[in-house]
Amino acid sequence: MKYLKITAKVRICNYEELLFEEKILVDRAKAATFRAYAPYSKFNVGAAALLANGEVITGNNQENVAFPSGLCAERTTLFYAHSQYPGEAVRTLAVAAYTEGDFLDRPISPCGACRQVMLETEMRSNQPVKIILYGKKEIFIIESIKDLLPLAFDSVAIQDEKIIL
Ligand SMILES: [Zn+2]
Repeated sequence: MKYLKITAKVRICNYEELLFEEKILVDRAKAATFRAYAPYSKFNVGAAALLANGEVITGNNQENVAFPSGLCAERTTLFYAHSQYPGEAVRTLAVAAYTEGDFLDRPISPCGACRQVMLETEMRSNQPVKIILYGKKEIFIIESIKDLLPLAFDSVAIQDEKIIL
């Protein structure tokens, strides 16, 4: 029997330690939380994506009374970015959350479905997407979605298996 040890690299810093470009993206993600439609959870999430052409696309969670019909901020942002700029790689994605009158002290982490979409965003451009998860007391920086989604499902892996079989 063998074991596979999986490790993830997450850099932890505070707002002052961010690069200027990262601060702008975090600020845009925070601002986007105030435009979220979250009447049910009252948990507003904002995201901001920096594209290779310099454009910043923002989005937020959009809920619905038929609960599964809503969408997370990360996917709202990435889908909109790709719908408007299909040829542009996403360089960085910042995420912030606001609830009960304040931003969270610690970062929130994207759900599994969003991680899968982030992975495809990264694979499509063949470049890492840096993820910045904002918290007032600490910020997590992940240099590639592969650190957040190890052993990910992807069609290339399946094709490889089929070749081997
Ligand atoms: Zn999600």
